[in-house]
Amino acid sequence: MKLQGKTALVTGASKGIGAGIARALGAQGATVIVNYASSRREAEAVVADIASNGGSALAVQADMSREADVVRLFETIRGEFGTLDILVNNAGVAVFQLIDDLTEEAFHKQFNLNVLGYLLAIREGVKLLSSKGSVINISSILSTDPYLASSVYSATKGAVDTLTFALARELGPRGIRVNSILPGHTNTPATDGHFAGELGEKLIAGTPLGRFGEPEDIAGLALFLASDDAHWVTGESIRASGGVRGVGY
Ligand code: NAP
Repeated sequence: MKLQGKTALVTGASKGIGAGIARALGAQGATVIVNYASSRREAEAVVADIASNGGSALAVQADMSREADVVRLFETIRGEFGTLDILVNNAGVAVFQLIDDLTEEAFHKQFNLNVLGYLLAIREGVKLLSSKGSVINISSILSTDPYLASSVYSATKGAVDTLTFALARELGPRGIRVNSILPGHTNTPATDGHFAGELGEKLIAGTPLGRFGEPEDIAGLALFLASDDAHWVTGESIRASGGVRGVGY
């Protein structure tokens, strides 16, 4: 039980990678706040899974791209738990489009959640984070190896890696570690259907470990970064991709 007595918030934890991380942290003894935007039933199912493993969790709705919601979420955490040890910024969205089709709306949809949302959560989180706090930002391998038609999304993830490094410096003196995880191609509701056919075969061929990732593959690294085993690790951007280099096709 590496996280016994710790409290963790995972944003966007009703599905996919966030749900996998929430389950893994809960299984190691953390009390987990399972954030979601609209999928209440799925979030409650993650809470029930954690409880059935002997853990403790609470689902809390908040749209992480909206400042008022983020503030309300952390007020709820303060009221219920008083403190926070682990913040996993995971809620993110991708819109793949060529530059010819760029719209202001698509830009703001991605930057407001993937970048502003992470920053707002950290701003509110540091008010509650303990002196051995761990912030984990879910980035993407696209931050360094963008796909075709991913300029805005990849730029959001490049920003995540940069803010990770900047805030590791800023928050290090307070004992708070800040790292990012760069998942590769991972099977989640967001990617359902996208990795099929010829593209999928190329992506797997470009993955040394020979398959797509699963949320549990990302959760293992998140668990390490959340735990005291990583007490000397901060400001790092770590890939969890089965070894993909380049765009993978
Ligand atoms: P997903 O299956 O679409 O799940 C997204 C989660 O985020 C859901 O729980 C969703 O909850 C929540 N969410 C969406 N908008 C939100 C908002 N405005 N406020 C709060 N929560 C919100 O996505 P995923 O594939 O697991 O991706 C998770 C993270 O990993 C993202 O940051 C993504 O960029 C990154 N990533 C994914 C891959 C991949 O291949 N899957 C690869 C690299 C990086 P609701 O259903 O309630 O909206």
